[in-house]
Amino acid sequence: MTEILTLPDTRPRQDGIASSYQDLELKDITAKAQVFADFDDHEWVLDARCPFTGLHFIIAIHDTTLGPALGGCRMWPYPSATDAMRDALRLSRGMTCKAALADLDLGGGKAVIIGDPKTDKCEDLFASFGAVVEYLGGRYITGEDLGTSVGDMDWVEKQTSHVIGTTRRGGDPASMTALGVSEGIKAGARVRLGSESLAGVTVAVQGLGHVGYALCKRLAGEGARLIVADIDDDRIARAQEQFGAARGSPGKIHAVEADVFAPCALGAVLNDDTIPELRCEVVAGSANNQLEAERHGEALRRRGILYAPDYVINSGGLISVAMGLEGENPNGAKAGALVCRIGATLAEIFVRAEAEGVSPDLIANRLARERIARRHARIAKVT
Ligand code: NAD
Repeated sequence: MTEILTLPDTRPRQDGIASSYQDLELKDITAKAQVFADFDDHEWVLDARCPFTGLHFIIAIHDTTLGPALGGCRMWPYPSATDAMRDALRLSRGMTCKAALADLDLGGGKAVIIGDPKTDKCEDLFASFGAVVEYLGGRYITGEDLGTSVGDMDWVEKQTSHVIGTTRRGGDPASMTALGVSEGIKAGARVRLGSESLAGVTVAVQGLGHVGYALCKRLAGEGARLIVADIDDDRIARAQEQFGAARGSPGKIHAVEADVFAPCALGAVLNDDTIPELRCEVVAGSANNQLEAERHGEALRRRGILYAPDYVINSGGLISVAMGLEGENPNGAKAGALVCRIGATLAEIFVRAEAEGVSPDLIANRLARERIARRHARIAKVT
């Protein structure tokens, strides 16, 4: 049964905002979400629509065993509500695993707004979204993600305090994400290429947004050779000019000959079509949900390609915002040191995967599940 929820008008209207959230139809669609293959005992799935403006977003809270569900707000022109739902379910589950493996007391959640980030953004939209986050009372903490920015989160913050990555609270975590990804690439290069440095290592980067650009800067600084692709030509031109990068085509960047392929755009880039075309030793990038399906981790292993599980290698931003939530400087030395530990975590996962003859993502999933199970056991003992 789909439960219709009433959004209380508890927060004062902000000057200049039309406050369309009073018109939102907010529904608890957890039961409905169970028919999706990506449903994984999610605790709560909410659907919010405004019949007048067409605004439509989904918030999925996967697991709050370790703490409040934290996960960014993605804005993307999904072809259908079903695609958006699948993304929300998968991304929120990934956030649970990410927090568990980073040893953070946070759970997993994610929000997706169906819309074009280039044309459909306005303050009203993010204010409405913020009002719903506020309604959740801290069970879900939001932030920026693909298609959203610090400025958007500043709008959200006008309606709720359960948001990070705003100008006042931490800013853009992408540089910390990129730091973690570069440490992960080094761990992969060490294992697979026997290389202690990135000098002369060729990395093909897909996506030159917040993370991809910051990653290229780091890699170029360490002497790596770059091949880059983006659907935005200006971003390629900038990377060519600033980092001496070679241009790849967005549809075929995965297939170029390189030591490392770093997916830093959308998910599901490792699939039945792309895996046979890969010509790299290591896949290590920031994108969430890189494997289209779980079996693609094994497909990579069979091809002899080392895969750095996405939610481990891209956890730098989460670690940094978690530090911010604890009152530490999210971009300070302490946060940086924790983010750099991603390399060691991945190295351990690679060793275990090799020893057991399984793909690294299986090991990562197991480690994440074990941590959550330990917490469940501790809670059960106390109560
Ligand atoms: P972003 O929106 O800033 O950048 C995405 C870039 O990918 C854009 O430049 C876009 O033009 C490009 N792109 C889109 N489709 C493409 C395609 N088919 N081929 C090539 N390029 C394409 O996003 P971001 O913040 O850099 O995040 C990138 C990825 O990393 C996302 O999957 C995100 O979920 C993940 N991630 C980001 C963070 C973070 O701190 N921002 C943290 C963890 C994971």
